[in-house]
Amino acid sequence: MSVSTVALDHGAEASKVVSSCQVCANGDLKPVLFLGYMPPVNQMRMIGQVPAEQPSYPTNLLFCEKCELVQLGLSVDPRILFPPGYPYTSGTTRILRENFAELHRESCEMLGLKPEHLVIDIGSNDGTLLANFKEHGHTVLGIEPTDVGKLAQQRGIATVIQYFGPEVARKVRAEYGPARVVTATNCFAHIEDVHAITDGIIQLLGDKGVFISESHYLIGLLDRLQYDTIYHEHLRYYSLRSLRNLLERHGLEVFHARHIPTHGGSIRVYAARKGDYPVQTSVEQIIRTEPRGPEMVERLQRFRREVMLSKLHLLGMLADIKAKNARVCGISAPSRASTLVTYLGLDDAIVDYVVEIKGSLKIGKYMPGTLIPVVEESRLFED
Ligand SMILES: [Zn+2]
Repeated sequence: MSVSTVALDHGAEASKVVSSCQVCANGDLKPVLFLGYMPPVNQMRMIGQVPAEQPSYPTNLLFCEKCELVQLGLSVDPRILFPPGYPYTSGTTRILRENFAELHRESCEMLGLKPEHLVIDIGSNDGTLLANFKEHGHTVLGIEPTDVGKLAQQRGIATVIQYFGPEVARKVRAEYGPARVVTATNCFAHIEDVHAITDGIIQLLGDKGVFISESHYLIGLLDRLQYDTIYHEHLRYYSLRSLRNLLERHGLEVFHARHIPTHGGSIRVYAARKGDYPVQTSVEQIIRTEPRGPEMVERLQRFRREVMLSKLHLLGMLADIKAKNARVCGISAPSRASTLVTYLGLDDAIVDYVVEIKGSLKIGKYMPGTLIPVVEESRLFED
């Protein structure tokens, strides 16, 4: 079944409006920002394909004053967001490879991991993270909903290709035993039923088991005006406070946290069952710097205004460039480029093409919702 057929079959009924907070069920969510209606960022049509009907989804950011979670107002059907042909591989990004090698070093050192300890990665993608643990003799298992998991299998990394949830957790626990470490990098904000996911993760954890998550960091997003990282895969935008609130509901205690550079600024958070590990000062150090309550409301209002001004500024720049008959092309087509293109209303009359490095699965396709082609980067040098 093709991606577009999936969208047409399931799109209308399976996406859900978020009418109460995903973490605390508070029904009084405050609107923060509306970026308009966007196509799913990973559905890219082949160049030359005649434009046909295409779904698009509202992209509105909401704030829960009770648990401080910033979240999207629509949860799009995961079969649309993460189709089997999902074109994202983490192994192609240098900063991610370096980060995962560093995560391996840090966790082994801090937790005294031994080869017999099982390490499970949720949303394991092409196995780039687990490869580090496997090289050092650990037993590893990936869980990945898309066909990208087959790339990991080809590298010899055991991978269950399924959407993660309590049912899969039960099966994995029965078959592979308890995990010492469960990781979820850049996906803990993506899966709709966050309570089921957290319960599933706890089921996987054995004695002194540790859950390590990496998530794009809300405060960095606000400070660096990264509104382009807002798209439908990212259902939740965590501060350390809101993430800690969530984990505490499940009896997990955050005992270490730090800033990491991936995805333009993320946080790595270590959590375990309460009392298993001493809580390090790093946690309070980060939390102290985060706006809270009315301060956060004010901060989000300021963000909304800054996003609007940024759009007008960029459009003004483009107007000047195009008035001089100059050409514009884009470098790299990550999902976030799609938010930028859609929010600004860029099209193929403004942007000639977007380049990607050789081997990217996005080459030969159009930027989502446009007729801007994605081409190999050598084109830029030829031109
Ligand atoms: Zn809430």
